[in-house]
Amino acid sequence: MPTALITGITGQDGAYLSKLLLQKGYRVVGLLRRSASADVVGERLRWLGIRDEVELVDGNITDLSSLIRIVETIKPDEVYNLAAQSFVGSSWQQPILTGNVTGMGTTNILEAVRIVKKDARFYQASSSEMYGLIQEPMQSEKTPFYPRSPYAVAKLYAHWMTVNYRESFGIHASSGILFNHESPLRGIEFVTRKVTDGVARIKLGLASKLQLGNLDATRDWGYAPDYVNAMYLMLQQEKPDDYVIATGRTTSIRDFCKIAFSYAGLNYEDHVVTSSDLFRPAEVEVLLGDASKARKKLNWAPTVTLEEMVAEMIEADLARHRNEKQA
Ligand code: NDP
Ligand code: GDP
Repeated sequence: MPTALITGITGQDGAYLSKLLLQKGYRVVGLLRRSASADVVGERLRWLGIRDEVELVDGNITDLSSLIRIVETIKPDEVYNLAAQSFVGSSWQQPILTGNVTGMGTTNILEAVRIVKKDARFYQASSSEMYGLIQEPMQSEKTPFYPRSPYAVAKLYAHWMTVNYRESFGIHASSGILFNHESPLRGIEFVTRKVTDGVARIKLGLASKLQLGNLDATRDWGYAPDYVNAMYLMLQQEKPDDYVIATGRTTSIRDFCKIAFSYAGLNYEDHVVTSSDLFRPAEVEVLLGDASKARKKLNWAPTVTLEEMVAEMIEADLARHRNEKQA
């Protein structure tokens, strides 16, 4: 039975990836950082019904000694590094923590692998945010990077460290440059989930307005369960490499609102208000990915449309709020 170590197991992707690997017969071990709210931390794993099937071990991506101990103890065949301060907005409020966790944390886990288990296969969660001020209309593995936030700068450092450990030490280390991907388990601070949650509240009479920032930015939004499958596929290749994972369709926040509100029979213009407080110090205006390489080499393709995903997210948020109301 192969063993996978997942950092960031309590996040959106960690939960879906765990489910996928369990289905494939893996032993799944996750790094869990100590929290005073341990009872709610496993919420996403519980939502997927797999909380008791994964093993959680105490450690922190900023604590190299904990990572060495864990890699020594569990001897993983595959390591998926998903742990990060992952929210761009917070990265301006906490730039140093973001650098330590999202950037240096990657070096810590790469070091643990290099020192203790060099033949483990390694996945790094790189991000389309690294393209920032885009240098080409469609971004591929060959497009130059231009990060526009402390988060993106930290991810770019981690990305190049992964490439370096591959080239310097021969580690089977791959980077997935994933464009935004969403699901009912997406963090509530991200715009898609904020909108679907807002739609559900408004539909149920719990709110009447939804405050957002820049509606004109566009994103290439995919479906998280499709994207964790791409992570898995990357580590099954004979040679490690970097791959863009994207749908090839970009949609503005405004159009996302139109789709989401109209799914619930509402008009977004009656409810969405914009606030300059929610605009960012520097914006990534457009992201649009070219995943031709992944399609060809990994035989990967998205399976769910934006409209289908929005419907699933709104239904889940409606169910959550109905349950809360009844409780
Ligand atoms: P989430 O924010 O949902 O999950 C982040 C995870 O990192 C959580 O499990 C969190 O734990 C953990 N974490 C944070 N700080 C530490 C720490 N100091 N030590 C150990 N663990 C820590 O992110 P997603 O699941 O959405 O994304 C997964 C990865 O992919 C992230 O690296 C993200 O930056 C990257 N990415 C995501 C994209 C997306 O659209 N979702 C696009 C491109 C890249 P806790 O629950 O305790 O907070
Ligand atoms: P990101 O691409 O990782 O930054 O994902 P987000 O979902 O946080 O943001 C996507 C885009 O939505 C960015 O261009 C934001 O400026 C824009 N946006 C507009 N209003 C909001 C809002 O209220 N919250 C968030 N998170 N983003 C918003």
